[in-house]
Formats: sequence, structure tokens, C-alpha cells
Amino acid sequence: MHQPPVPALSAADPEVARLVEAEARRQFEKIRLIASENYVSRAVLEATGTVLTNKYSEGYAGRRYYEGQQVVDPVETLAADRAKRLFAVDHANVQPYSGSPANLAVYLAFLEPGDTVMGMALPMGGHLTHGWNVSATGKWFRSAQYGVRRDTGRVDLDEVRDLALRERPKVIFCGGTAIPRTIDFPAFAAIAREVDAVLVADIAHIAGLVAGGAHPSPVGHAPVITTTTHKTLRGPRGAMILADAAHAKAVDKAVFPGLQGGPHNHTTAAIAVALGEASTEGFRTYAHDVVANARALAAALAHRGFDLVSGGTDNHLILVDLTGKGIGGKPAAKALDRAGIEANYNTVPYDPRKPFDPSGLRLGTAAITTRGLGPDQMPQLAAWIDAAVQAAGDEALLDRIAAEAAELMAAYPMPGWA
Ligand SMILES: *Cc1c(COP(=O)(O)O)cnc(C)c1O
Repeated sequence: MHQPPVPALSAADPEVARLVEAEARRQFEKIRLIASENYVSRAVLEATGTVLTNKYSEGYAGRRYYEGQQVVDPVETLAADRAKRLFAVDHANVQPYSGSPANLAVYLAFLEPGDTVMGMALPMGGHLTHGWNVSATGKWFRSAQYGVRRDTGRVDLDEVRDLALRERPKVIFCGGTAIPRTIDFPAFAAIAREVDAVLVADIAHIAGLVAGGAHPSPVGHAPVITTTTHKTLRGPRGAMILADAAHAKAVDKAVFPGLQGGPHNHTTAAIAVALGEASTEGFRTYAHDVVANARALAAALAHRGFDLVSGGTDNHLILVDLTGKGIGGKPAAKALDRAGIEANYNTVPYDPRKPFDPSGLRLGTAAITTRGLGPDQMPQLAAWIDAAVQAAGDEALLDRIAAEAAELMAAYPMPGWA
């Protein structure tokens, strides 16, 4: 048991090879519940490690600035075609380096500096790049931020509409990083239409669920869709912008030459592979299993007295408010990590605590579902989470849970670990 197989790296640079191996072991042994993470397939891993990394290809297929694109052009076209088919959109740009640059390209395409953008506030579950004040998007643009209702933990679409009518944004973002509930794309579309704004659906977290039919699609409602490729979609680190025909040209111009130089062709190849995988019947099953696991974990946690924002989940993500358990999010996350369970501390809506030590814990089931865990195991996970959170500081107990967690995970294969 000593993988990943990186023989050339081990020979040339044992120091880096050792670190790669240590990270692989960590990913193999831990119960990984970080909602934005996953395990990519062996095929995706291999594609990211190819000689395509050696090639420069600024521009788009058939319109490049350097020669030698006989192979890179079909790679990028294949990735874009697969994205178009999978999501049923007119246009796909697969060049953004990651989710944040993809969103920045949207600003460049549809706003001038100082124009108004509307998005969900970061502490309410939005993303930095939806106009939050510390982000360039909040510094260079006027930003109007919506949240969720205190009583329901859900977006109040009347509030969103009122804010939009008052602030007249040019772009409205929907989607976020800590939203456990279905996003109502038709309702956002109606609001955007009313104020003549471009609706951008940022489906970074849920793209795999959308592809697999386990979350409604924004297509037909949002003319522009941004997504990372590495969360539930289970591809390499990267991003895409999907658009209808009317918005395609502006998106492409913004990505290149507006914002980026040469695309990362090894990543593009791996995106193509991941999109091929996401088009299979097996992936549809995976997407529904992710949701079934999240529902089961949410129910088991609620049964143990955990307070869940919005009361539960519709997707892969659970936001736990630890206030009732008498522990902050950060010490809880640290105790869990010590116990072999990886999660991240997170703000909860209307959090009375500081952002670097908030009240919440964010959990997700994308990675453990890839490993093959099922709903039957979620009560055990909830029991370990409960025990670890209550026993923060009891090193012996945390060690014991970590050993049990590693024993459980040892029965489930991990791509890239033989
Ligand atoms: C993860 C995420 C991003 C940013 O992606 P990076 O690849 O980390 O830059 C943007 N928007 C949402 C909603 C996300 O969840």
C-alpha cells in the first residue's frame, strides 16, 4: 500500500514525492466532508499530468496566436462540445483558470467599474466574488447584497426583488458556497428581467448535481452560468462559463484577451474527461447518491440535537449551527480534523461570532459518496461528529475516532491510491 505511483518524481525529487504521498495517504484515511472537495478519477488525474502542459495556445480554436495547435484545438473543442451537450447550452468557454477568474470575466463582460452588481452576502452563504467588500468585485464595483431570512434560513425572493428594484443592478448573481437548499432559478430570472439585469447563475458547488439531474438546471433562466469544474462535477481544478448565443461573444472576449493569457491545456483535457464521465448513467446515480447521503447525514445530525441552517438540505451541503452545542466552529473543526473527519468552520446567517471563529460548520457529501459510502453509514458519521465535537480536547478519544474512521475508509477504494 504505497501509492500514488509517481516513480519519476520519486527518483528526481524524493522530497516532493514524499509530500504527494503523504497527502494521498491523508485523503485515503480521512472522512473528507469539505463541501467543495471531491476525488477525481484516475483518468482525470492522468490527463492533468500530460505534456499538454507544455503548450501555449492564446486565443480560441482556429484563431490562435501561436502555431502548433493541431492537437490543442481539438482538445479544447472536445471539452467545449461536451460541456454544451451535457448542460444543453449554446456556448461553453472552458478556459477560465478557476471559479474566481471566471466570475471576474463576467464583470468584465457585462459591467463597467462602478456599476452595480447584486449577489448574496458572503456571511449569508454567497461567494467573495459576488460583490463582497474585501474582494476586487466589491472594491471596483458598487455592490448590493442580499441574504437569507432569519426564521427560515432561506433566500427571501421578495427581499431580493425589492433590493433589485431599488439598486437597479446590471448583473445579479445567484448561487453560493453555503446554500443547503435548491436555488429558484425561474424566480431570480423574473427579477432580473424586471430590472433588465443579466442573471448569472454561479453553480460552482452544484454543477455535478445539475449535470446528474439531482438539482434543477439554470439553463433557460440564466443566460450566463459560471462554474468550477472541481467540486461536485468531479473534474480537475478549473472553471467554465456557459452562455446563450446572445452572450457568448462578450464572455469569450472577457476571458481572452480581457483577463487571461494562455489556457491550461492539460486542465482542459482533464475537463473534457470529467465531462465525459459526467455524461454517463453512472454519474447520474452518483449525483442522486450525493443528495441521499446528505439527507441521511442531516437527519442523523438533527437526531443528535444539531441545529441545521434551514432545517436540513436539498443538495450535497449541510450547514450546522453549533451554538446549541456550546462550541465555536473553529475548535469544532480542529477537533474533527484530529478525529480524522475533515470539515471547515463557516459563518451561519446572522452569526454573532467573528468570521475567523464563527458559529458554524459546513459539511458536504460529494467526496465520501465518490468513495462509496452510503446512507446506512451516515448515522455512524453523525455519532463520530457528535462525540468529537463534545470531546474537543480529549486527545485520546479523538485519536480513537480517527483510528476507527481510517478503518472504515480503508474498505473504500480511492482513485490514485492502489
Ligand atoms: C468555489 C466557488 C468559487 C470560486 O472558485 P475557485 O476555483 O476557488 O476560485 C466561486 N463561486 C462559488 C459559488 C464557489 O463555490
